[in-house]
Amino acid sequence: MRFINLGGRPCLDRDGRAIDVATASEGRFSADVQPIYEQWDEFRAWADSLDPDVHGVDYSEEQLGAPVTCPRQLFAIGLNYREHATESGLDLPDTPMVFTKFASSITGPTGRIPLPTVTVDWEAELVVVIGRQARDVSESQAWEYVAGLTVGQDISERTLQIKPPAPQQFSLAKSFPGFAPLGPALVTPDELPNPDDLEIGCLLDSEQVQKSRTGDLIFGVAELVAYLSSAVTLLPGDAIFTGTPSGIGFAMTPQRFLREGSELTTYIAGIGTMRHTFIGPSQ
Ligand code: ZN
Repeated sequence: MRFINLGGRPCLDRDGRAIDVATASEGRFSADVQPIYEQWDEFRAWADSLDPDVHGVDYSEEQLGAPVTCPRQLFAIGLNYREHATESGLDLPDTPMVFTKFASSITGPTGRIPLPTVTVDWEAELVVVIGRQARDVSESQAWEYVAGLTVGQDISERTLQIKPPAPQQFSLAKSFPGFAPLGPALVTPDELPNPDDLEIGCLLDSEQVQKSRTGDLIFGVAELVAYLSSAVTLLPGDAIFTGTPSGIGFAMTPQRFLREGSELTTYIAGIGTMRHTFIGPSQ
């Protein structure tokens, strides 16, 4: 199942056309996106049994919002691909490096994002969305708590994030308005040939700058859900940015950053593509 946010309303994407959930379910499910995750199992069952003769309406990608709009918890993981840890000059972690992005940074899969400074960087990431409350779940059960997967960009202001002598500020530096684009769809794991090994990448002005596979994650989806739930109760609709592969601008020589007019394309095979342009300080 492909779940989308079309103009603020939850919809199913069936063959590229949108079926409005509240209308097709005659009000059984919410007309807002985020509450759908509170009834995820029921919603899945309803969607799976929906009459194949129900047809949707055409839509364009510019009409889509984030498939998760206001999670109560928005986690992110640092240094979770081997090559990215190497390019950052850091040892491989023994346990996941966890921080938070604040939910006010969420935006949709297309559009313009303001740059607060001239040291803003890209990080293509697989994002996991939780579909059931999870506490102390085992790795072997973890996928049962996952509603689906989507594409994310963990946009990062590097000066605030890491410039000494100030303390590192991962959460603030990655939570400016628009710094957490999500979309274009939430895809349930059964739609993907292998949800643990998906091609992920990003292009800056048509140049491929990141390209990897989620099979190279140091801590995969199941390990992350198990690890996070060993400390925190994961709630339906929570989202987890799982880390970025190598190819960030900060690690390049010379370093590169997003500029006024930069076009960033972020994709995961089988899930979809996001397209953003940037506005803001040119120097
Ligand atoms: Zn990241």
